[in-house]
Amino acid sequence: MLISVPKEIKNNEYRVGMTPTGVRELANRGHRILVQTGAGSGVGLADQQYAEAGAEVVDSADPVFAQAELIVKVKEPQPQELRLLRAGQVLFTYLHLAPDPEQTKALVASDCIAIAYETVTSPGGGLPLLAPMSEVAGRMSIQAGATCLEKSHGGAGVLLGGVPGVAAGRVTIIGGGVVGYNATQMAVGLGADVTVLDRSLERLAFLDTRYGNRIRTILSTAAAIDEYALEADLVVGAVLVPGAFTPKLVTRNQLAHMRPGSVLVDVSIDQGGCFETSRPTTHDRPTYVVNDIVHYCVANMPGAVARTSTFALTNATLPFILTLADKGYRRALQDDAHLRMGLNVHRGDVTCAPVAAALGYEF
Ligand code: NAD
Repeated sequence: MLISVPKEIKNNEYRVGMTPTGVRELANRGHRILVQTGAGSGVGLADQQYAEAGAEVVDSADPVFAQAELIVKVKEPQPQELRLLRAGQVLFTYLHLAPDPEQTKALVASDCIAIAYETVTSPGGGLPLLAPMSEVAGRMSIQAGATCLEKSHGGAGVLLGGVPGVAAGRVTIIGGGVVGYNATQMAVGLGADVTVLDRSLERLAFLDTRYGNRIRTILSTAAAIDEYALEADLVVGAVLVPGAFTPKLVTRNQLAHMRPGSVLVDVSIDQGGCFETSRPTTHDRPTYVVNDIVHYCVANMPGAVARTSTFALTNATLPFILTLADKGYRRALQDDAHLRMGLNVHRGDVTCAPVAAALGYEF
């Protein structure tokens, strides 16, 4: 099969859909791979590394799109990329179609087969191609929060790990899923005093088994938020209610009960955020202050560590890419119900129920 890897053109996107390691795996199986020049330059992967792994490096997007049977990307196709898609081509990337009627319309009109990373499922019930980015964001949340706690960033001047003779900083993580678990791991590693709140007793039991008495696991209730979030130096919002806006768990009025210079890191901001005072920020201006509380609400946290994020994402996507290339998309989707869940648009039809429902397509 001919597989293409374009250079990402979305603003501030440095990741790439395939590393030279992936190219080599595909080339070893007899596939042909086209990589657009500079595709990996944002994360330190040179054209020469792709060429040595077996790719043909081409100098513009046109041949990359024109010849491909399978296009592997990171972000949804931008308007100029949508125009290059051809009938019968398979596109494998993040799409996030539900809030994007224009893109959906263009994909339907292109007659392509669009498989979205974010709706591929796993036997355990998770989302294996979203999880790597949650892992990155969870780990970053503590790093970002620790920086915000420094005086020069508006924080109270608290070192999360404390020092001998001085108590550690208090970290409360609301939501103990993938983001919350990874945040916990970093906070414990730094020596902070860590509390995790979740509504799922199953998640709390998992964390308790993993960390024992090293952390506090508490059922998430309004009383628990009062007791543990308002008292914390750093609160990480890591809540997800699938398919819904994130509930507001800390209100504007409650900020008055927190210590000045405390920090809220709202990782859930991409679903609306779990603090009433959260609004999306960017890496250029990641924080703002409300009632003396520092807010960090960057909606694409993994973008700051594009190199790590690229390897994390491509580790997860590569097995699916190999299957699509080896079997062709029809058999690959027939054989794997979880990959089939990723099919969002198939030759003029919207084939993902939530997307069809959100945008008024027949399903
Ligand atoms: P997840 O499903 O693995 O975990 C969410 C957890 O929230 C679950 O354990 C659930 O039980 C818990 N929860 C639900 N309601 C709760 C409540 N009222 N109180 C406490 N816990 C509650 O999801 P995840 O992968 O950890 O993602 C969390 C959020 O982070 C999502 O909104 C995701 O989109 C977002 N995210 C943001 C970025 C970013 O760059 N900002 C990056 C990755 C993920």
